[in-house]
Amino acid sequence: MVMCTEDSLLKSEERQLHVIILIGSILAVVAACIVSVPREGMSSRAVIGSVSIPSACVFRNITGIPCAGCGIVRSVVCLAHCEVARSWGFHRLGMVVLVLLVAQIPYRAATLIRGRSPKCMRHKSIDVLWIGLALAAAINWVFTLIQLR
Ligand SMILES: [Zn+2]
Repeated sequence: MVMCTEDSLLKSEERQLHVIILIGSILAVVAACIVSVPREGMSSRAVIGSVSIPSACVFRNITGIPCAGCGIVRSVVCLAHCEVARSWGFHRLGMVVLVLLVAQIPYRAATLIRGRSPKCMRHKSIDVLWIGLALAAAINWVFTLIQLR
């Protein structure tokens, strides 16, 4: 890992991005706690109270085949309700997504409070994280498609 000798002050657009990601992460975590997934098998939709949330997946709606991200919302919602086994059944990367989502809250808040961004560490570790996540999603999708055959 590259060591930073000095952090740079946050620019206005960087501050805005941190605020947007912080608010978005908080809203997503709160939404995951409010939404639930009824026990109606693997085709069950997420619901708020008695209102079913429609599928937003264009790929699945057109092809009938789940995309690499299908089930991730239901997986995260189940985790927010401590249903680990059901979460795994909907998507194997739900735990990773929830951890990354929750981790955004202290990271973004601390960065905004400090007013500085540790740039050199950020670029390397974030790149590795995104590449790893994309690779894991691709491998997970292949296993999902094999299971559907
Ligand atoms: Zn999808």
